[in-house]
Amino acid sequence: VLEENHPISVLLTVPDVRAAVEHYTRVLGFELDQTFPPGSDWRWASVSLDRQTVMLGAPDLLAERCPEPAMGEIALDPRSARPGAGVTIYVQVPDVDGHHRRVAGAGGAVLHDPSTEFYGIRVFHARDPFGYTLAFYSPAEIARCESCGGTLPDESADGASFCERCVDDDGNLRPFDRVLEAVVESDYVSLLKMDRSRARRLAEERLRRQPAWSQVAH
Ligand SMILES: [Zn+2]
Repeated sequence: VLEENHPISVLLTVPDVRAAVEHYTRVLGFELDQTFPPGSDWRWASVSLDRQTVMLGAPDLLAERCPEPAMGEIALDPRSARPGAGVTIYVQVPDVDGHHRRVAGAGGAVLHDPSTEFYGIRVFHARDPFGYTLAFYSPAEIARCESCGGTLPDESADGASFCERCVDDDGNLRPFDRVLEAVVESDYVSLLKMDRSRARRLAEERLRRQPAWSQVAH
């Protein structure tokens, strides 16, 4: 029976992601798979042991980035003594919207409608009667801006290729430097609290990989 089942994933809120990764890899036998953001100031990481994943997230990052505001409250209050505080259990389902209807229809405590997230899943959160939070998700195709690589909103999937910040009022692509400045400011300095020179370097590398800029010399 075990061999036929897929493992579930758990997200643990930890005060120090780097220290947690060090413990999980050196002491507990896990391997480091992914970290976020780029650079050495990790605020999220994923480790695995025999294909079973544990995610480790810093409270402030979870509070800012999670699709459900209450997640932030959970993350920021890991000592609340409420069962499940600081823990999210990720369960993959074949059809997340169908599963949402089923859970909501059965009277489940659904925390938000399914939303498509930039990291490639469509997800909703529900809480069991004891306080544990489950994130039901399906892998999702993400439409991306061809200029900045950011997520395009669901409703623009019908052909728009640039996001709002990358175009002017007439819908034309802004100059490279304008786009770069916007990305540095919103995605790195304000969201990730990154210093401006490093932010500029990472943002520039990222823009050069996008279809709109990869052929252009700067
Ligand atoms: Zn864009």
